[in-house]
Amino acid sequence: MTDQRITIVGAGLAGSLLAICLARRGYSVTVFEARQDMRSSVVESGRSINLALSDRGIAALRQVGMDEYMLKEAVPMLGRMIHDTAGGTKLLPYSGREGEYINSVSRAGLNIALMNEAERNPNVRFIFNERCTDYDVASGELSFDSGRTFRPDVTIAADGAGSPIRQAMQRQIPGYEFSSVFLDHGYKELHIPPGPGGGFQLEKNALHIWPRHQFMMIALPNFDGSFTCTLFLAQKATDGPGFDGLKSEAAVFEFFEKEFPDAVPLMPTLIEDFFGNPTGSLGTVKCWPWSADGKALLIGDAAHAVVPFYGQGMNCSFEDVRVLDGLIAEDAATKNGDVDWASVFAKYGQVRKTNTDAIADMAEENFYEMRDRVADPIFQRKRELETRLEQTYPDYFSKYSMVTFREDLPYSIAKARGNAQDELLMEICSAAANAAEIGLDEVMERIRDLDS
Ligand SMILES: Cc1cc2nc3c(=O)[nH]c(=O)nc-3n(C[C@H](O)[C@H](O)[C@H](O)COP(=O)(O)OP(=O)(O)OC[C@H]3O[C@@H](n4cnc5c(N)ncnc54)[C@H](O)[C@@H]3O)c2cc1C
Repeated sequence: MTDQRITIVGAGLAGSLLAICLARRGYSVTVFEARQDMRSSVVESGRSINLALSDRGIAALRQVGMDEYMLKEAVPMLGRMIHDTAGGTKLLPYSGREGEYINSVSRAGLNIALMNEAERNPNVRFIFNERCTDYDVASGELSFDSGRTFRPDVTIAADGAGSPIRQAMQRQIPGYEFSSVFLDHGYKELHIPPGPGGGFQLEKNALHIWPRHQFMMIALPNFDGSFTCTLFLAQKATDGPGFDGLKSEAAVFEFFEKEFPDAVPLMPTLIEDFFGNPTGSLGTVKCWPWSADGKALLIGDAAHAVVPFYGQGMNCSFEDVRVLDGLIAEDAATKNGDVDWASVFAKYGQVRKTNTDAIADMAEENFYEMRDRVADPIFQRKRELETRLEQTYPDYFSKYSMVTFREDLPYSIAKARGNAQDELLMEICSAAANAAEIGLDEVMERIRDLDS
């Protein structure tokens, strides 16, 4: 046990996982959370009820022995099930290799499991209904809306995309770099309940996509047989429809029946959900520096919120925790248990920033891929070719697989290698009418040349 007291602001996914890691290293940890304890209150509906958990997130959960527990509660999604406007479907597997798939997990279930696990350590304390309002960079003092102030040895801000601690750094650190870019598209969550016998009304083991170029709907399975659908649509109609044009029940029905005819009969609460649930916005936040001397550090969405189209925001935030925990352990080992926080935070920033920038860029690019390109025959041929390559060559990984299934590979490498591969494979698939006719050995040789 060390006598250093660490404060975490935000008991969300990253903050709760970090509390477990720090407690196991012997720190006293206090976690301040703005919301009520979700274990004793109704979880707010309409905001990303389930999430795709993949290898980077699983690797971080494994470090604290929580991976198997969470996967037992997850629904595996083996590929993207594409729905056309006539109701036809086609499954595009995520990988050609067995065992490479993503998992649909409940956000609240995961968050609660992490808080419970953290609280098993007597040196962790959660304080709910305490909203941090300000941070003083010079003194390290935190202020809360209750009027309380607090000056911990070290603060880790896991307070999400709107982080007040990041905003305080931005105001107080000269030359602070900050950008937030919002998409024109917003999102709304909708619901497909379980079938009459409690079964799944769509293929259970898939992430369903209705790609419609200007907009799309997706659906992820829940453990209870339901699906959570998310409609991504422009806030304002321009060259396609927008939320602003869907103001009446009739307009919503007409839109859904035209665009998602196979889903409508499965959505008995479509109108209530559409008008009852909020329309969320989607943005990318980049900022720098992430730390204020050795006193505070931003992690997770507070440092780098990304749009959700690679299913990586949480996975990346969990990877933040794994990397930070490793650096703390490394530093403590060289200093008889004492940690030089300024040095750890500086190293952490060096290791993570290029990688979180890379996933932010890829997530935005994937929006256009999911919305426009998954329905394109050349893109579908490319996915088929990638699947065959993955089935044949153990050393071939598509960009998607590098991001999603290779926790050993930094995002920045996945991006650089993946973009070069994508360009080559699109060129090959544009020239061939059928993926089955493309000679795999020759393609693989050209891919290996890219790396050399
Ligand atoms: C629609 C949608 C779908 C998504 N799907 C996926 C997916 O499939 N896979 C994936 O990996 N990621 C996904 N994400 C991203 C993922 O939700 C985030 O990246 C992840 O939640 C980040 O974790 P965090 O702990 O940094 O922030 P959060 O989970 O936002 O937690 C922040 C916590 O801080 C608290 N807080 C905020 N302000 C204060 C304050 N002032 N004082 C005290 N506490 C405060 C909040 O109440 C919250 O508990 C999705 C996001 C959205 C919007």
